[in-house]
Amino acid sequence: FALSREHPEGRMFRTYADLKDSYDVVIIGAGGHGLAAAYYLARDHGITNVCVLEKGYIGGGNTGRNTTIVRSNYITPEGVRFYDASIKLWEDLSEDFDLNLFYSRRGHYTLAHTDSALRTMRWRAEVNKHYGVESELVGPEFIQRELPMMDMSCGGHAPVLGALYHAPGAIARHDAVAWGYGRGADRRGVEIHQKTEVTGISVNSGKVHGVQTSRGFIHTEKILCAVAGSTPRLLSMVDLQSPIYIHPLQAMVSEPTKPWLNPIIVSGSLHVYISQSARGELVLGASLDPYELHSTRSTLDFTEGLSAHILELFPFLSHVKIVRQWAGMADMTPDFAPIMGKTPVEGFYLDAGWGTWGFKATPVAGKTMAHTVASDSIHPLITKFSLERFRSYALTGEKSAASVGH
Ligand code: FAD
Repeated sequence: FALSREHPEGRMFRTYADLKDSYDVVIIGAGGHGLAAAYYLARDHGITNVCVLEKGYIGGGNTGRNTTIVRSNYITPEGVRFYDASIKLWEDLSEDFDLNLFYSRRGHYTLAHTDSALRTMRWRAEVNKHYGVESELVGPEFIQRELPMMDMSCGGHAPVLGALYHAPGAIARHDAVAWGYGRGADRRGVEIHQKTEVTGISVNSGKVHGVQTSRGFIHTEKILCAVAGSTPRLLSMVDLQSPIYIHPLQAMVSEPTKPWLNPIIVSGSLHVYISQSARGELVLGASLDPYELHSTRSTLDFTEGLSAHILELFPFLSHVKIVRQWAGMADMTPDFAPIMGKTPVEGFYLDAGWGTWGFKATPVAGKTMAHTVASDSIHPLITKFSLERFRSYALTGEKSAASVGH
């Protein structure tokens, strides 16, 4: 039962002593995606007999571990339209929640150090413009003028030839996104149960029947699975397979410095990206660890490699200290596009394959999955992201726009 409806103890969410015997919808995973789907199910579809089950704590998965880059400069028409819809939701989200998400539009540069990279940037810029997304190819003079502190020769071995500049590129406070969606769902009647692990899923004659949890069985006919790095484990509970493979993705932050870096800078060739948070910390990331591993441990090798490449771009940072590093479990797909929608198991909906790029999709994923679950019909924005595409070889090739840039 609800301890308090009015949150007198000042907490963001109600807590419950017990689970109910049954819910209209059970959402597995209280990351941004699961909580956003719960929020839109309640707000837009009036479905509130919903529980969100989380084995750890709200936002403790990749949502609270990511480097918060929001952008829509993808390369496929499906990707551009989808992420652009997300940006439009992001822009109003703080007001929607009455909670400051520190959403900050900064501009996003993807540097090109080779002629072939320049060609890809030009291609992306053209696709983006075609769909009304602000992106353009800029030359070295433009970049140097905007970023006078950057070494354009990158230590002499990877000179910057140009960049894809994407003005809407933004960052946000990741934990607050999970809290905002969670609080909004909670206030509309959704139950969020932390420290409650799903250990099994019951399927009868091809239809969802319920979930087994660490706190007992719950009956339901609709499950939304939004567990990112745990997707293969959950899929095995319903005898489904996907081409998802799990790789660690690491990141780190520096001690705070005075504001000096407004935009987000990404270099695919150097495998690095950097932005400066509202607190002044430099938020630094790289590409995936090169091996499959279901773990969130991080390594010294990563810190050393990433620091070396960042110093090629910004040599003056050599005395700045690194204060934290960590890893998340990225659920990678072969075409770097997500897997969303219905599955061959009736009532089992999937929101997965978010790899290194899913934070920016949190609002639109929640909205489109809520629609899909509520109406049992696939939202038009996500038809190209189906699980089925791997069987019919109809991939949505997003790799050249999704890797490293996040
Ligand atoms: P999560 O936040 O991982 O939530 C899933 C939840 O499911 C977890 O809390 C987990 O505990 C829970 N769960 C798992 N199994 C069970 C179970 N059996 N029972 C109950 N609960 C369970 N994306 C971007 O767009 N921009 C970026 O800059 C960016 N940078 C990144 C940097 C790093 C280091 C990492 C790791 C990821 C980055 N990403 C980025 C990707 C992004 O973080 C994820 O794609 C996104 O957060 C996924 O959100 P989610 O809600 O689907 O998953």
